[in-house]
Amino acid sequence: MDNKRLLNTFLDLVKIYSPSKNEINVLNYIKDRLDKLKIKYILHDHCSDYGGNTPVLIAKLDKNEKGKNLKKISLCAHMDVVEPCFEVKPYIEDGLVKTKSNTTLGADDKAGVSCILEILETLIKENLAHNDIFAIFTPSEEIGLLGAKSIKWNEISKEFLPVKDMIVLDNANGVDEVAMQGPCMYVIDVTFKGLSSHAGIEPEKGKNALFAMCKAISKMKIGRLNDHTTSNVGSIISNFPTNVVPNECKIKMELRCLDEKEAKDNLDNYIEIFKSTAKEFDIECKIDVEYDYPPLKQIDNGVLLKNVLKAYKNIGIDAKGIKIGGGCDANIFLKDGFNSVAVGVGMYKMHTTDEYLVISDMENTTKAMLNYICKD
Ligand SMILES: [Zn+2]
Repeated sequence: MDNKRLLNTFLDLVKIYSPSKNEINVLNYIKDRLDKLKIKYILHDHCSDYGGNTPVLIAKLDKNEKGKNLKKISLCAHMDVVEPCFEVKPYIEDGLVKTKSNTTLGADDKAGVSCILEILETLIKENLAHNDIFAIFTPSEEIGLLGAKSIKWNEISKEFLPVKDMIVLDNANGVDEVAMQGPCMYVIDVTFKGLSSHAGIEPEKGKNALFAMCKAISKMKIGRLNDHTTSNVGSIISNFPTNVVPNECKIKMELRCLDEKEAKDNLDNYIEIFKSTAKEFDIECKIDVEYDYPPLKQIDNGVLLKNVLKAYKNIGIDAKGIKIGGGCDANIFLKDGFNSVAVGVGMYKMHTTDEYLVISDMENTTKAMLNYICKD
């Protein structure tokens, strides 16, 4: 592998503006690199379903003769970056890449994209032994895993159907942590509808939806429920003058849990509180629940995880499998039978304007993945 080329790829990529739903120029960059290496790929296009402009790209590097007994693998990274990400101005300092602009850096997940491009180029240029390698580049991960969700596997030709062992290059923090378990998530929208009245003249004729909603929330345990369950109320909207009894209040909340059954129990408990509180205040209650994604878990008895940890060990890094609190494309792929882990690529403080990349982490994960691919 070529560390300089890897870093240059990363610097090229972060300078390309690519917020969610508008990753087309990153896609073009990837296509250009794949074309130069004569790697075949398909574009799988359902992005108009959610108003995006960029298809999913699935590339395949066919096995070579000396690699036919090695492990097949699918690699995955996302092309979009959290805003603000316009005109990123990267610079290097003490082994880190930071940005002078008041933006995110976009190491999340352009570090992952860079690693995959470097892996493919190294396999070809150094004529290394490898089995079939698939690379999946997704759009609009940051706004609800929309690119991954848009994939219809039954429309993809057999040749490009990725193998079910998948490494997602999109984990935060150090490369010594490999995400093997993550929560499922529910998003819950609740609307309370009461009755307006003049707050000074006849408040008793009103039904205060805002007050009822606050009562409902006050009965709930919110935040960290236990070591594997969290919940949060993100917004509450009810905007009336002080002399009007509010007849409407809307909230939006989320619930995450590593265990699907327990998540459902917690969800049912929340719903019950909303309903009974609405009843107490004699107001209407409308609840919309979206099961945003299933949990990330290992469905192969830990074989993939063991091999990934071994690859890190082989390059001198003592990595361990960890539980994480966020979701990524791996959660969506699991529904379709993929078994995934998410590896670190050196991104820190992501989703903030203090985001930075640890260059050696990006190099080490690239090296470890090559080790995974090329060694028995
Ligand atoms: Zn990411």
